[in-house]
Amino acid sequence: MQGKLYIVATPIGNLDDITLRAIRTLKEVDIIAAEDTRHTLKLLNHLEISKPLISYHRHNEEVKTEELVNKLLEGKNIALVSDAGTPAISDPGAEAVKVAIEKNIEVIPIPGACAAITALIASGMDTKEFTFIGFLPQNKKNRKEKLEQIEKEERTIILYEAPHKLLKTLEDLKDILQQRKIVLARELTKIHEEYITGTVEELQNKIISPKGEYVIIIEKNGITQEKLEQMKLTEISIEEQYKYYETQGMDKKEIIKQIAKTRKVNKNEIYQKFIKA
Ligand code: SAM
Repeated sequence: MQGKLYIVATPIGNLDDITLRAIRTLKEVDIIAAEDTRHTLKLLNHLEISKPLISYHRHNEEVKTEELVNKLLEGKNIALVSDAGTPAISDPGAEAVKVAIEKNIEVIPIPGACAAITALIASGMDTKEFTFIGFLPQNKKNRKEKLEQIEKEERTIILYEAPHKLLKTLEDLKDILQQRKIVLARELTKIHEEYITGTVEELQNKIISPKGEYVIIIEKNGITQEKLEQMKLTEISIEEQYKYYETQGMDKKEIIKQIAKTRKVNKNEIYQKFIKA
């Protein structure tokens, strides 16, 4: 009989954040496939579990998937874990799941901590609809496209970021977000857990040298495409458009930038009209 593939979530900081089912699964499987075997060994020692470990990480995912699937076909039950949180979410795992399904191997999720959801639920942002982006691409063109998507996004946005790249990412977000609110959820479930809130500029002033782990939660774009269309920008006056943006809480500088952008005119023209008048 074929074995089963268990996708097991592990804590993102606080070691108590592991479910009873996850512990039982880790105890019962034949093998644990881990992103970093040394890292997982610490968790297993804490749980007093001793199991054969094999490494399964981004750089050997393809080769190791074949090995995992062969072991599953031989009848071994395997638990797949990442360093922290939920496997396959900005972590290895998705490829193993895909191939296992193709081979008719049963895949069983064991839910638990996920940094994105943990950050979102205490951020105070709209949780009704949200979009998870994970890490922004490093490739210039792909990054620009993602930033454009964020600029227009009408749902709360969740990003992951490494501490050494946080300042660069905030700088990139500055142009597109203007006064939209950001919540930085730092060191979740750990001793120094904190939520830092503000506009990009405010956060840049607060965070000089980022340390620890961060999830970035970005407020949705309140000026929806739908609203913009309703306003039929070409049919309303610039004054009406100006007033509308004021009701949205935008400051003069932003309003001028936005009017210039939507009407494809020079910022100075608008500036002359409203500020100098
Ligand atoms: N699969 C994991 C999950 O969904 O929880 C995420 C893995 S991803 C490689 C690592 C990123 O998750 C970090 O760079 C950070 O953005 C976020 N993260 C993980 N643990 C965190 C924590 N305790 N506090 C804040 N962010 C965390």
